[in-house]
Amino acid sequence: MRRISILGATGSIGASTLDLIDRAGGAEAFDVVALTGNSNVAKLAETAIRLRADVAVTADAARLDDLRSALGNSGVEAAAGPEALVEAASRPADWIMSAIVGAAGLAPTLAAARQGTALALANKESLVCAGQLVLDACEGAGTQLLPADSEHSAIFQCLCGERQKEVERVILTASGGPFRDRSRTEMESVTPEQAVAHPNWDMGQGISIDSATMFNKALELVEAKYLFDLEPGQLEVIVHRQSIVHSMVGFADGSLIAQLGPPDMRGAIGYALNFPARVDLPVERLDFAKLAQLDFEAPDPDRFPSLRIAQEVLRKGGRAGTVMNAAKEAAMAGFLNKQIGFLDMADLVDRALDALPCEGEPGALDEVLALDADTRTRVAAWIEGRD
Ligand code: NDP
Ligand code: MG
Repeated sequence: MRRISILGATGSIGASTLDLIDRAGGAEAFDVVALTGNSNVAKLAETAIRLRADVAVTADAARLDDLRSALGNSGVEAAAGPEALVEAASRPADWIMSAIVGAAGLAPTLAAARQGTALALANKESLVCAGQLVLDACEGAGTQLLPADSEHSAIFQCLCGERQKEVERVILTASGGPFRDRSRTEMESVTPEQAVAHPNWDMGQGISIDSATMFNKALELVEAKYLFDLEPGQLEVIVHRQSIVHSMVGFADGSLIAQLGPPDMRGAIGYALNFPARVDLPVERLDFAKLAQLDFEAPDPDRFPSLRIAQEVLRKGGRAGTVMNAAKEAAMAGFLNKQIGFLDMADLVDRALDALPCEGEPGALDEVLALDADTRTRVAAWIEGRD
């Protein structure tokens, strides 16, 4: 039986992954090694018991007792804290889903990358913060990196059987999020509740807000650079409000290959789970007569400065990715607490990129984590008005 682990099993990507695992036979078909979560220990325990996991881990050390009592005498081992997450990600498994949200996913993703098996990557932040370290870990161990982000799965699928040197450009599609038709003035006063309500995709809170600012696309540009070894000039973004074309690759002869599908993450996750096979997935089949129309438009740099910031990060390198992501996460916390406005988030990221040392690639995980922590401290102080 294939041994699998899911890091971030209680989240949105975790739920889509578990749905596919359950449909494929659950504990009868897979040997579930580790499942991890953070605050939702009840769901974590229920899933771990149902799938007969070896270990369930909450990132929050203060919740260990809750997890233990929820697991009862099921025989599933309980563990807690950041080190326990890394230990769980290091347990031998044939396929690991990395779906923790934010830079918190970096250390466990690196541990999974060192296994030499298959790593399905939804946690884009680990590539944005430490792309070269993750790639080096995969290469050193012989780990197969399988993109689970829908755009990157699309690009991966478009590139199958193609020659890298003939790739001219990669076009990432973006839904434009809930504010794609709002003016800049209107965007100044939008609330967290409005920002989290994505028109096309049902996702976790963090990525939903990232979609509203288009920082999600900024992260994805950096993610694509590392995954597919691209130069900044080869990467483009186009707003495509229907989220049917997941991304496209353009070749030396002017031809483009696109991957299409309904906006359902089980498509990309299912591809990564079954790669290189294609199996029947529980996703809606597209009816082009009903769709009738697919729209494309250029993103507006005034309303979405995140895309300009991404170009700066692509030019500067890995440290700038760490700073952009940490500043964005800290600014998002301020926005969710209603301490700052929606457009202030990008301003704070700009300010952090000016204030912190950003050139070049970080040498080791400790350096990334220190830069991440420094950036968060600075941004939090700016939000509190202490600096
Ligand atoms: P969710 O917020 O729904 O889930 C996040 C998961 O991470 C949960 O299991 C959560 O646990 C856990 N978690 C939260 N904080 C921590 C922490 N500090 N340490 C360890 N674990 C933690 O996020 P999504 O599933 O939406 O996104 C997960 C990742 O996948 C992100 O990187 C996102 O950008 C990426 N992604 C998501 C897509 C989507 O459609 N949702 C699409 C493409 C990429 P708990 O819930 O128990 O607190
Ligand atoms: Mg995506």
